[in-house]
Parts: sequence; C-alpha cells; structure tokens
Amino acid sequence: MACLFCEIVERKRPAKIIYEDQTVTAFEDINPQAPVHVLVVPKKHISTNLDIEEEDSPLAGHLLQVANKIAKDKGVAERGFRLVMNCNPESGQTVFHIHLHVLGGRFMQWPPG
Ligand code: 5GP
Ligand code: ZN
Repeated sequence: MACLFCEIVERKRPAKIIYEDQTVTAFEDINPQAPVHVLVVPKKHISTNLDIEEEDSPLAGHLLQVANKIAKDKGVAERGFRLVMNCNPESGQTVFHIHLHVLGGRFMQWPPG
C-alpha cells in the first residue's frame, strides 16, 4: 500500500522539506497546529511506535536529536516546544509511518486534548 510519508521521503509527493540526512527527513506539516509545526520522519518505513525494534534505537534517538536541531533553528528551543508521537487511532495517529511532531511558537495546554 502506498505510504504518504514514504512518498515525501522519496520526493514523489511535494512537501516543504527543511532538513534531510541519511536516515531522516523533516518537513512542514500541511495543516500546522502552531506557528512551528514540523514532522520529523525516518526514511525507513516504520508503521507505529510499537513497531520500533531494538535495532532501530539509534534511529529513534536520532529523531530526537533532529527535533532539537529544528527547535533551535526555528528559535523556539529556549521558550519551549512540544514533541508528540501519536500511536494508533485512539491517540489521533492518521499517517501510519512514524513521525515526531515538533510544535512550538505558542503556549501549549496540558493535559493535551
Ligand atoms: P498524525 O495524526 O498521524 O499524528 O499526524 C499526521 C500529520 O501529517 C498531521 O498533522 C497532518 O496535518 C500531516 N499531513 C497529512 N498529510 C500530509 C501531507 O501530504 N503533507 C504534509 N506535509 N503533512 C501531511
Ligand atoms: Zn512509509
């Protein structure tokens, strides 16, 4: 089955890509929920957080490092930002290729909706 985010990673679907390295691509969310809303995705297709294997641990850690870089580059690191990874439908996951949401630039409520 075609995967939206694999298509973005492979540049078969347009997106505002702001960062890319060997294992990760980051791009602007199409429907931003905050002034900063970037999605950090592994180039490897992994459907949900539950599908992250032990061997993927360096990749999962790298997603967090890239999220930090984006928060700094976007100027929200010191103010604060939120990282979200939804897992499965009840959490709100709609695209089944894992992605870290980097959200910032406005005050965030807690608990989340
Ligand atoms: P989820 O609900 O799975 O945690 O997050 C999916 C995110 O992907 C949503 O925030 C949604 O706006 C974003 N999204 C869905 N389709 C596209 C697309 O084609 N391009 C981009 N850039 N973002 C998308
Ligand atoms: Zn995929």
